[in-house]
Amino acid sequence: MDIQKLGSRTAEQKAKHAAYMRRYTAANSEKINAQKRIRYYQNHERSLETARRQRAKPSRQAYMKAFRKMHYARTRKEDLAKNKIWRENNKHRVLVTVKKWQSENYERHLMNQRRSCQRRRARKNGNFTWRYPGDFEQILKKFNYSCAYCRKQKIKLTEDHQIPISWGGHDAPWNIVPACCSCNARKHARFWELS
Ligand SMILES: [Zn+2]
Repeated sequence: MDIQKLGSRTAEQKAKHAAYMRRYTAANSEKINAQKRIRYYQNHERSLETARRQRAKPSRQAYMKAFRKMHYARTRKEDLAKNKIWRENNKHRVLVTVKKWQSENYERHLMNQRRSCQRRRARKNGNFTWRYPGDFEQILKKFNYSCAYCRKQKIKLTEDHQIPISWGGHDAPWNIVPACCSCNARKHARFWELS
């Protein structure tokens, strides 16, 4: 076939060829699909590898992150509404999952319960400030990862409201100090000076 000739086809020739291709694909769709399927499986591993390499690129990751963020912002409301409907239609399944999590993570469940109780009381008094996941880490850093009362280090530290919620203390980062379990339990709903 003459490449030069192919490149300089007239519009009429192009239209004729396109019409022929359309007729051909319509008449041989099954054959073409079978070929496509074979080619897909032959190159499957390779395309997976290519996709993996693409995903590993920082530029691609940044793009995907931005895309997901945009997509999330666009569909958030619908997604939340859909989830709500699903939960209402599958109450039993939700309950089973929740109970399972609570029994497997009993300590965290108790902590969550305590937290939500505190939040509710603080909200009732109008002393509620929204806290973010990184907040406690900042507070820990400020106290050099030690208990605010006994100054022990290298022990499990819990969030303690320095001024107790029941005294009208705020549920806000500036009223949170790290306390070891023993100090937190002994202090309970009292006010202790920081050591
Ligand atoms: Zn302590």
